[in-house]
Amino acid sequence: MVNWDYQVFWDEALSQIKDELGEHEFSMWFNLSYASATETSIAVQVPSAFYRDQVSRLYQRMIEAKLHELSGKTLLLDFIVTKPSGLASRMKEDLESSDLPKTSTEPRKTAKVQGPSMGMSKGKHSQLRSDYTFDSFVIGENNSFAANAAIAISKNPGLAYNPFLIYGGVGLGKTHLMQSIGNRIWQEQDKIKVICVTAEEFTNEFIQSIPEKTTTVFKNKYRSVDVLLIDDIHFFQEKMGVQEELFHTFNALYDAGKQMVFTCDRPASELKKLTDRLRSRFERGLNVDLQPPNYETRVAILKKKAAVKRVQVPDSVIEIVAKNISTNVRDLEGALEKLVAYSQLVHKDITIEVAQNQLKDIFSQAKHGNVTIDNILRVVSDYFKLSYTDIKGKKRTRNIAFPRQIAMYIAREITEYSTTELGYEFGGRDHTTVMHGCQKVDERMKLDPNLDATIQSLVRQVKDLSSKG
Ligand code: ADP
Ligand code: MG
Repeated sequence: MVNWDYQVFWDEALSQIKDELGEHEFSMWFNLSYASATETSIAVQVPSAFYRDQVSRLYQRMIEAKLHELSGKTLLLDFIVTKPSGLASRMKEDLESSDLPKTSTEPRKTAKVQGPSMGMSKGKHSQLRSDYTFDSFVIGENNSFAANAAIAISKNPGLAYNPFLIYGGVGLGKTHLMQSIGNRIWQEQDKIKVICVTAEEFTNEFIQSIPEKTTTVFKNKYRSVDVLLIDDIHFFQEKMGVQEELFHTFNALYDAGKQMVFTCDRPASELKKLTDRLRSRFERGLNVDLQPPNYETRVAILKKKAAVKRVQVPDSVIEIVAKNISTNVRDLEGALEKLVAYSQLVHKDITIEVAQNQLKDIFSQAKHGNVTIDNILRVVSDYFKLSYTDIKGKKRTRNIAFPRQIAMYIAREITEYSTTELGYEFGGRDHTTVMHGCQKVDERMKLDPNLDATIQSLVRQVKDLSSKG
C-alpha cells in the first residue's frame, strides 16, 4: 500500500491558519497532530471527543479548504481520539476539567484584584438573581459539559471560551447557568462590570435610545462591559436594526477579550432569521446544549430544591415526582411548589397520597403529553366534515365509523392511554372495539397509500392544537 505523506501541506496549512486566527484562538483549539494519510484523507489525533466535536464544528471546513488550496487535492480530515472517548470517561474528564483547552498563562492585561471570596459577598447585582448560583445548580450527565465550561469561564472570563452559547428547550436551566457565571464573577472580582439582560430588554433599550438621541450612551454602555450576558437570543430574529447594533457590540467586546455568554432555545445554526454574519459570531466560540435530566438527576434536583426551601419531603414522594415528570426542571419545581403550598395550607405532611392527589392532573398531562382525546376528535371530525357529537356518539354508519376508527388509531399512536381507557373515552366502548378499529385502519393503510399521509397530517394538526393549550 502506498503511504501517502501530506505532512508538509498539513504544517503549512496550520501555520497559515495560525496567522489568520491569531495566537490566542489558535493555541486554544489546535491541539491536533498529524497521524497518517491515505490518498484522500488525513488522520489527525485529538486529545478527546470533546475536542473533536468542537474542532470539527468550528474549523474542519476551514482546514480542509486550506489543504485544498495548498495541495490542489480534496483531502478530508479524520479525527482520531487518542484517549478513550466513552461517555463515562468523557464526563469524568469534563468534571475534572482536564479536558478543557488550556487557557493562556499570560497575566491578564487588566489585572483584576481578587475580591472577597463567597460568603463575604459584595452585595447583590441588580440584574442577577441571587439564587441562580453554581451552588444551587445540580450537575448531571445532561448538563455536565455546559456546567463545567461555565465554571471554567467564571475562572477566566474572556479567555476560556468566548462567546459561550448555551442552548436547549424551556426549563432546562439555561438562564440559571448563565446567571451563575455572572454571579460568580461578580462576587469574586473587584471592579468588574457585568451586564445581564434578556434579548428583549436589550432590544427595547436600543429602540428607545433612538428617539431619545441616546444611542451613543447605549453603545458606550454595552461596549465597555467586562462581561455581557444576554438571555434568549432567538428573540433577535427578524429584528434587523438591533442585530446590526449587537453585531458591532459583539466585535468590540470580542476584540477586547471581554466575555460574552448567550442563551438560545435552539442551536445557532437554526436561527434562520438572523443575518449570517451575526449567526456566525454566535457560533464562533463554544456552543453547548442542555438536555432534559435523567431520573437520578431529577431526584437530586428535587432534593436540592426541598433543602433550599427547608421543607421535609420523604424520598418516596421525591421518587414518584421524579418518575412522573420528565419534561424539564421547571415542571419538576412547579410540582414540588404545589405540594409545599398545599401542605402548608392544610398543615399536613407531604405523603405519597397527598402527592398523588395533588399532582393527579400534572402526572396525567405529562403522561399524555398534552394531547387530549378531545383534540383528536375535533381535528378528525373537522377533516371528515362530521359533527363532534356524531363522531363521539353511537352511530355506526360507515361514513362515521371509519373516521372514528382513525381517531382511535391516532389516539393509540400518540397518547399513552390503554385500549380500555380509550374505549371509555370513545363513548363507553369496549377495549376490543378499539383494537378492532385500529386493526381496520392498519389494513386500509396497506391498500391505500394516501391514508398514511392523511393520518400523519392529522397527527400534526392534533399536536399543533394541543401545544396551543
Ligand atoms: P431555561 O432558561 O432553560 O428555560 P431556567 O434556567 O429558567 O430554564 O430553569 C428553570 C428552573 O429550573 C429554575 O428555577 C432553575 O433554578 C431550575 N433548574 C434548572 N436546571 C437546574 C439544575 N441543574 N439544578 C437546579 N435547578 C435547576
Ligand atoms: Mg431562560
